[in-house]
Amino acid sequence: MLAWEVPKPGPIDTNPLRAVVRPRPEPAAGELLLRVRACGVCRTDLHVAEGDLPVHRPNVIPGHEIVGEVVALGAGVEGFSLGERVGVAWLRHTDGTCPYCMRGAENLCPESRYTGWDADGGYAEYTVAPAAYVYRLPDRYSDVEVAPLLCAGIIGFRALRRADLPPGGRLGVYGFGASAHLAIQVAIAQGARVHVLTRAAAARELALDLGAASAGGAYDPPPEPLDAAILFAPVGTLVPVALAALDRGGTLAVAGVTLTDIPSLNYEKHLFQERELRSVTANTREDGRDFLTFAANHRLRVTVTPYPLTAADTALADLAGDRVNGAAVLLP
Ligand SMILES: [Zn+2]
Ligand SMILES: [Zn+2]
Repeated sequence: MLAWEVPKPGPIDTNPLRAVVRPRPEPAAGELLLRVRACGVCRTDLHVAEGDLPVHRPNVIPGHEIVGEVVALGAGVEGFSLGERVGVAWLRHTDGTCPYCMRGAENLCPESRYTGWDADGGYAEYTVAPAAYVYRLPDRYSDVEVAPLLCAGIIGFRALRRADLPPGGRLGVYGFGASAHLAIQVAIAQGARVHVLTRAAAARELALDLGAASAGGAYDPPPEPLDAAILFAPVGTLVPVALAALDRGGTLAVAGVTLTDIPSLNYEKHLFQERELRSVTANTREDGRDFLTFAANHRLRVTVTPYPLTAADTALADLAGDRVNGAAVLLP
């Protein structure tokens, strides 16, 4: 099969992805073999390719927003049938026994393993995935539409949960990429008034089109105090800006995997009056199932730019250069 691997991580302009021909993988016990129908391109893939995330598996195949068709079942797999469409996301293993798993926080499991980092992912014609971590997908979305829901969508949904937005509350969203454009649709459907604060004019336009109450520059004050905010841009200098925009008791959730340094905070201005600053770390399978159920019941508008699988390197470089409108999706 055709696949893209990362032989040696490095800056995107050194072409860290390499196209190779690999044998089709075999499903181990508990795994499904999937023919990849679509795979989203996520910023985390860029972190894998550029080496911001350490190498966990040499020559790994990136990709963790996989829409696949079941073509073989490993030993002991039940509840799936051949030809069924399923989704594979970032989280693919937890131990199920640690204190975090035991209290329903498997996203914090120290033994967690991830698709396209610890194990080969979806920049390929076939992939294998543990059946226990595979999702059923809502029928109302096409393959290209549903792929970005599997990471951008789930993470945005978890970030929204972490932001503790009260019913009918005022939400600020800093940065507006694949994740944010889905998260605001969930928030608006739940009755929130959303203010998007981001630098690109096209993103501000899309935000208003999707129902945001206002859209301004990233460092501009929103038109009203915020009950909650989500920082999607990996920019630490926006943390004090977003905290200062919160109303008393408001929460700021930082959604990114990485963040540049946060400047020093002023207790009075940024944290007092019980403002809270929180991180968001991966997601649980429950977040994933709850989000996909939400998406089955509410038509989300998914903006995608499709690329053939043979152009995975171009897609990733375009993402790095902010040249992708919505989410890039690879089609074998
Ligand atoms: Zn655990
Ligand atoms: Zn991702």
